[in-house]
Order: sequence, then C-alpha cells, then structure tokens
Amino acid sequence: MINFDYVRTSSAKSAIEAINKDAASAFIAGGTNLVDLMKRGVASPEKLIDINSLPLKSIEEVNGHIRIGALALNSDVAESDLIIKKMPLLSQALSAGASPQLRHMATIGGNMMQRTRCTYFYDTAMPCNKRQPGSGCGALKGYNRMHAIFGASESCIAVHPSDMCIALTALDASVTISNSQGERKIPFGDFHRLPGSTPEKDNNLTRGELITAIEIPNNDAFAKNSLYVKIRDRASYAFALISVGVALDIEGDTIRNAGIAMGGVAHKPWRLSAAEDFLKGKKISAENFNQAAAISMKDAKGYGHNNFKLTLGANTIVQALKTVSGLS
Ligand code: SF4
Repeated sequence: MINFDYVRTSSAKSAIEAINKDAASAFIAGGTNLVDLMKRGVASPEKLIDINSLPLKSIEEVNGHIRIGALALNSDVAESDLIIKKMPLLSQALSAGASPQLRHMATIGGNMMQRTRCTYFYDTAMPCNKRQPGSGCGALKGYNRMHAIFGASESCIAVHPSDMCIALTALDASVTISNSQGERKIPFGDFHRLPGSTPEKDNNLTRGELITAIEIPNNDAFAKNSLYVKIRDRASYAFALISVGVALDIEGDTIRNAGIAMGGVAHKPWRLSAAEDFLKGKKISAENFNQAAAISMKDAKGYGHNNFKLTLGANTIVQALKTVSGLS
C-alpha cells in the first residue's frame, strides 16, 4: 500500500473543489471497496478526500419520491421503516449484499461506485484491460464462471457486483450529481456503462463530480408485489451468480406494469425491458412467465465456465415472477 495524504471536507462544494485541485485524489466514504483496491495495488490515489461529514445521510419522502442521501448507510436504508414499506425490493436487495458489518460501513453512493469482483482485476500479475488498458483480458479465455452473459466485449466480460443497483434499476430510480457547475440528474439505467473498448470506465460520472442522492418514484402497486431473488454459492457474503429484481403492478389476474432487472450478468445492472413490455396486459401464468424468460435470455452468450448462467438465468426469472405473483 502506498503513502497517501488525507483530508476531511464538510460540504459538497469544498469536496468538489478539493478533488478538482488534485488529479490523483479520490473521494472516500465507507471505504469498503477502495481500501481493498489500495491494499492490493489496484488503486493508488495520492490523496483521499473524506466526505463522511457531508450532510447527505437522509432517507425521506419528497414530492412523491423517496430521496436517499448518497452517504446513507446500506444497513440504515435496508432497515428503514419507510423503505421497507414503500420500497421493499430495495430493502431486500440491500439485505442480500455483503455482510452485516460491511453494510454498516458501506454507503449508497459507494455501493454504486464499487468495482467489479473479477479476480483478474484484483490480481496485478494478470492482464486486465479494466485495471491497465491495453494489457488484455485474463478472463476471456480464463476462468470465467462469474462473468457476463450480456453486453460484454472482447475487451472485458466483467460483471457489476451490486445487488442494490439491480433494485434501483427495476424501480426507475435517478441519480443526483453535483459538480462545479451545479447539479445534474441522470436516470439510474444510464449511470453505469457497458465495457465496449473502454472497460476502465465503469460509469458516466466525470472527474470532479459527486453523487449526492438517489430518487425513486413512489409506486404503491410495485410495493405490494416485489421480490429480489439472488442465486449464489453460499447463503451469505457472496456475490450473485444470477439475481433478479422484480416489481409488478397487478390487478386481478392481469399484470398492468412491470419493472425487472438482472444482476450477475453484465457490466451494468441489466434491465429486462423486452420482458417488461411483453408482460404488460398479460395474465399471470406459467406460460407467459416462461415466454418472458425466453425473450430476456435471447441474446445471452456464455464464455465457457459461465455457460450454466444461460439456464440458471431463465429459471431465476421464472421463479421470481411466479413467486411475486403468487403462482408458486
Ligand atoms: Fe479485467 Fe474485465 Fe477481463 Fe476481468 S473481465 S480481466 S475486469 S478486462
């Protein structure tokens, strides 16, 4: 681990000024991923700008939205009465991530910014285009059991590791970002990127920008019928092989609207838009759910060790839809 400077800031303005002053600096909040990266020599910021004192920890209902400050802890959000009542999918997804100790350190903004858990990325003796652009991808022809089946490129087949981000994608959240010009908002689905030829870029945040909040539109119908299903190698403290976040608006036996996203399958949270469109106006039935899964998996591609995800993915979508609609 290298030596580094450390400063604390107490406002978004001073944090943005500090990071713009020093090209080799980085924000730190919970540090649950960044400190690991620094210990392993994958990240080497010369200065850490501690943003934990910024007033960005609120969890509140504002104008038909739930607004969550970027520094709210994963555990506080997961256990908030407001979130459990209004956004149970988000609470379930957060509770499925990491361990209680990590959830109590990690922040919402940090959860969005966490980097892939591809083992080649963390092993500095191995080639990795994400860690060192142009060096190659160790996983492409290596051991790729955890890797992507959607949206990958020849440069990178890594997956985004967050559970929370799958729920936020299905729930149509947006991200509020501050920079030296003021503030901007982007849909959650546009925050993370596919790897293309620039896998070193995980998201569309630009240098000098700070995530300040996420907002999720209230949807009482979704709150009644939502579920996060996570398939992993052990019951706790493991990343998803496949996960599915689903929220349905159901009237009688008909689906009026659907929000569905998948994790463990792509470089970004993978929204199942075609399945959402297919299910609108359809009856609750195993046949329709099988068809929604087939539509979702149409373009999936395995890379050898992860070929099992093609079947597991379809089965998990069907299981999530059946369970949330009371069919099984
Ligand atoms: Fe690196 Fe991506 Fe290849 Fe993993 S999959 S080795 S993160 S380039």
